[in-house]
Order: sequence, then C-alpha cells, then structure tokens
Amino acid sequence: MQVYNTLTKKKEAFVPLEEGKVRMYVCGPTVYNFIHIGNARPMIVFDTVRRYMEYKGYEVNYVSNFTDVDDKIIKKANEEGVSAQEISQRYIEECKKDMSMMNVKPATTHPLATQEIDGMLEMIQDLMDKGYAYAVNGTVYFRTRKFAPYGKLSHKNLDDLRGGERVLLVSGEEEKEDPLDFVLWKPKKEGEPYWESPWSQGRPGWHIECSVMSKKYLGEQIDIHAGGEDLVFPHHENEIAQSEACNGKEFARYWLHNAFLNIDNRKMSKSLGNFFTVREISEKYDLQVLRFFMLSAHYRSPLNFSAALMESSQNGLERLMTAAGNLKYLKEQGAEGAMTAQEQQEYAASGEYVKKFEEAMDDDFNTADAIAAMFELAKYLNIHVSAENTKEYVGKCLERLLELGDILGLILLKEEELLDEDVENLIAERQAARKAKDFARADEIRGKLLEQGIVLEDTREGVKWKRVQ
Ligand code: AMP
Ligand code: ZN
Repeated sequence: MQVYNTLTKKKEAFVPLEEGKVRMYVCGPTVYNFIHIGNARPMIVFDTVRRYMEYKGYEVNYVSNFTDVDDKIIKKANEEGVSAQEISQRYIEECKKDMSMMNVKPATTHPLATQEIDGMLEMIQDLMDKGYAYAVNGTVYFRTRKFAPYGKLSHKNLDDLRGGERVLLVSGEEEKEDPLDFVLWKPKKEGEPYWESPWSQGRPGWHIECSVMSKKYLGEQIDIHAGGEDLVFPHHENEIAQSEACNGKEFARYWLHNAFLNIDNRKMSKSLGNFFTVREISEKYDLQVLRFFMLSAHYRSPLNFSAALMESSQNGLERLMTAAGNLKYLKEQGAEGAMTAQEQQEYAASGEYVKKFEEAMDDDFNTADAIAAMFELAKYLNIHVSAENTKEYVGKCLERLLELGDILGLILLKEEELLDEDVENLIAERQAARKAKDFARADEIRGKLLEQGIVLEDTREGVKWKRVQ
C-alpha cells in the first residue's frame, strides 16, 4: 500500500510500527455550530482510509478529538447566555448524528480537550523542565527555535517564517522571546472558563491538546496523523515540535492531508460564510450521496461543490444500488444447489474488478478509480447474472459488490422501509394482541417498528407514531 506522506512529499510504502495494527489520529472539529460539508471531507476520507485498512486485516485504533474549549465556543456561549459546556455538548451530539448519517464509524475514542487538562499540564511542565517552554505573565510559550527540525512538515524555513511573523511583535506579543514562539497555556480573560495551573488560572492552547490526546490513547509514536491541509501549518508543525521535544521520538510516521472542499473555487469556511451544513444537505439528499460525491475525487485534489456534481453523484450511487437490488431479486429467484462450473469461472473472473479496486486503493486511496472499478463490476454482473443462475452464485456476486461498497462506506442495499400502510397494519395488529392479552406479541411488534426507526406513543386519542432518525 502506497501512502502520500506530507513529511517527505512522496508516496511511501505503508509499514506499520506494529505488525497488523494501525494507530491513527485525526484532528476533529471545534464544536460551536453544526459542521459544514468542508469539515465532513476529512471525516469521510479518513473513515474510508480506516475502512480500507480494516479490510486489509489491520486492527485500527482510530482516535479523533472534539475541540470543546476555544474562543469561538466561548463567544457563542456568551451570545446565547449559556455555558461553553452547553454549547460544546450540544454540537458534539449534533456532529455525531451527522457522522452517523454519513455512515462515518464512531472513532475507537473521541476524547474531549476539557477532559484531558491534567495530561496537558503534565506535558507543558515536562517541556518547561526540558527547556522547551517558558512562562511570562501567566502565559506559557513553546521555544520554537530550540526545536531544530521545526518546519520539517510544512517545508518552511525558519527565517522566512520570521519575516512573515514580524507583525506579531506589534500586536501585543512583545513578551515572547521570539515571534515564532507559540502558546501552550494562556491566562483566562474575565468570564472565560478556566483551570488551575502553576502559571495562571487559564486554559490550554489548541495545539497541545492533540499532542496529549494522541499520546494518551495511542502512545508516543503513531502510524498516521491526519487532517485537512490547512492544519499542516501551524497546527501539525506545532504538534510535532511539542511531541518530539517531549518524548524524544518521531511522533507520526505518515502525515496525510485532504485538500479543501471549495465552493465557486474558494475554500468553504465558516468565516467566509460560503458554507452548507451537513444538516442542510441532508434535507435534500440522502447523505450517502454526499459521501459518494466526496469519494468521487482523490482526497488530495481540491473538490468544488456544485448542485450538478451532487446530481451526478446521486445518479452514480443509484446505478450501484439498482445493481445490488437486482442481484438481491435474482438471488431470491435463484435455483437451489451448488454453483455450476461456468458460474465458478464467471465468479472468479469478476475478481478482476476487485483487484482493480484494490490497486486503486493501494495507490494512496484513489477512491475515484475504486468507484470506477465498482461500476465495471456492476456492469459485468449485469451481463453475467440472470434468473437462470443458482442462489449461491448470485449471492456471492451480490456479496462482492456489497463488500466493496462497504469499504467506501456506501450501503448499497437498504433494509426495506416499511410503508405507512404497513405501519398502520402492524399497529392494528398490536392493538388486537394487547386486547387479547398477548403482550409478548405486542412488545415484539413495538420492537420491530423501533428497529425501523418508528416510535409509538399511546395517547388518549389512540396510538400515534413517528419516524425518528
Ligand atoms: P475546524 O473545525 O475548522 O478545526 O476543522 C475541522 C477539520 O475540517 C480540519 O481537519 C480542517 O482541516 C477540515 N476542514 C475545514 N474546512 C474544510 C474545507 N473547506 N475543506 C476540507 N477540509 C476542511
Ligand atoms: Zn489536532
């Protein structure tokens, strides 16, 4: 498997630190609002990387944080007159709903910055003891120049950076020893949430949280660290400086960065106001369409969001879903008995497309080519599966298509949805069962409806029902 590494600017063979295991950290969102579809790009892309690694047999320990203390969260809390915690909790819940609708698997651990303050105090102290950090007026800074390899990820030269940062000197940060130094801990301002520390009542800087959470949940050295390309500098560069200065070891082997999701060829972002939230898109499309759209481009290529591309993604996804639906139907009609010799041969021949799919994914997760291989497989199966075939053969062909879909996180065969009429009939049956004191059956029906996302409510006017996500 070849993986493009921002650190070396090359595709490299993926070799994990520990055989059969992958330790992966993906920087998560700052939670002060609904996530936008730009934020969804790294979620979908790196969830797909994880799924492919799992398909290859690796056990993946996948950690992705929520930044739940930040200026923007505090601002929003003040606007609404509620606590910062209430804001972050609310949007973490909403983000998890969006992730589930996009079929993004929950991380092995989703740490919260505010729950890891002790670890941050420890790492900051350690950096001070080693001479990599200093405190001035309650603020702790990282002594950037002391970490000689600084700039190795973003391929920036320290002296160029110094020129660029000169403006900082006139913006109230004169207390720093060097304009390149960055904040590890900062004192609170009036009304802000804070924690006690040896330096001031305050809160951690943004970069330190990822170094600490990564170390706690994955260890001092990890295989993959990932996020959007805007994080390369300064966030990831600073994470490397902190972690490597503290632990004395290479922090992450492979650094993966997705390109931006643009709109009208500009980065989609909250500050520019040119964004759609994932929730807004979910009102118009099944979020599988969004997932298909994101994966139809290579993750390192910029992707421009447009209605036309969403429509063509919907068509593409439907083609694959129709192929799966047809196979399911043919399987039900299929003959009993073992696969014929010809079927065995045709099944083996369809493996060619699995190979193509894997080759594409092995080449730095080229999901665009992987999707193309799926279309070819669907076409092949369309020609080589008919009502004359055995159940076993059709079943195996269907499984093959579904498995590739699953690697990309696309569910090609949806559980059949109950129509309103079916729901009404089941409710009537449940009422009859209750009347007959057959409570087991009544509960069974309630459970069956719940599985389909239908909740019953017994009211004075009779039973009401609603669909929930
Ligand atoms: P933030 O909440 O801004 O820290 O962003 C969370 C994640 O979303 C980071 O990995 C960002 O790099 C990523 N991200 C934000 N905007 C975009 C965008 N327009 N396209 C792709 N990734 C983005
Ligand atoms: Zn981070």
